Amino acid sequence: MPINMTKDRPNVNSRRIINGADSDVVQLHPMKHTFAWDAYLAGNANHWLPTEIAMQDDIELWKSPRLSEDERLAFKTALGFFTTADSIAANNIVLALYEHITSPECRMYLLRQGFEEAIHTHAYQYIVESLGLDGGEIFNMYRENTAHNSKANFILTFNEGVFADDFHTGTFESDQKFLENLCVFSLILEGIFFYSSFAVIFGFQRQNKLVGSAEQIQYIMRDESQHLNFGINMINTIKEEQPELWDDAFQKRTIKLVKEAAKLEYEYAREVFPKGIFGMNADGFKQYIEYIADRRLSAVGLPKQFKVKNPFPWMSEAVDISKEKNFFETRVTEYQTGGTLDWN
Ligand code: FE
Repeated sequence: MPINMTKDRPNVNSRRIINGADSDVVQLHPMKHTFAWDAYLAGNANHWLPTEIAMQDDIELWKSPRLSEDERLAFKTALGFFTTADSIAANNIVLALYEHITSPECRMYLLRQGFEEAIHTHAYQYIVESLGLDGGEIFNMYRENTAHNSKANFILTFNEGVFADDFHTGTFESDQKFLENLCVFSLILEGIFFYSSFAVIFGFQRQNKLVGSAEQIQYIMRDESQHLNFGINMINTIKEEQPELWDDAFQKRTIKLVKEAAKLEYEYAREVFPKGIFGMNADGFKQYIEYIADRRLSAVGLPKQFKVKNPFPWMSEAVDISKEKNFFETRVTEYQTGGTLDWN
């Protein structure tokens, strides 16, 4: 469709996360969803690359007999899950969300977010290569391992409708379908399904084992918590812009999905870490996942379902610590001064 010539400028009030005026999509101004711009700036300030992290200690440790078979298996299992999850996330951003989101500032962040998912996949590839793991074993785990497969299929079920060529927002049903995809993608895939694997990796870090890989995952977790915040902000803004979508039935369905996902996640933890690891046992994982699930529900204004304490309080520190790390500050400085380099 050709763009009509006009001196009328877009009205900020016509901006919507979905179903905004067509002519708005191309220009960033005037910005309404400033949370998206803030997320974009935060993402840039947090920029990192896998190859910046030293892997020598991990390589030596992996070759040595100092890691038990259970530890090796737990590490590979968590890594296997991450590889699938980040690729599914990237596809959902590019093939489902980007097309239907009509806020240019949100699209701007989605571009950054998509790149970050690629960096995460790069990190897994880099870990596989550094440690000399069998890439086929790690990347194909979602086809070979039931617990991985169930989680991937749970997510993919909600992609189907929104990925279809003839899917359009603009009706009550399709808008709810889109919002459901967003809830499953943000609250469940990015907000729940990563977390028992994160816990396992930080278990290694707390033992001072595989610290390079753990550091990679720490940066990934920080990116992911930003992705999650952005998703929550979009959900809450759609609720304000189209309150009719967030009806009683939708809320009940969302709670049901989060409870189902929490169950899938702790079943995954029980199946892949049957003997527990680093003092984290099946009950601990279950309670941790329930605690996380309640946080995701509260973030979008839904009632907590489990009301349990966080059994792994050091997990919140794993996110906070990374913000203060010297390593990271060094990188930030480098990127920020990058533009003033003398190219001669
Ligand atoms: Fe993500």
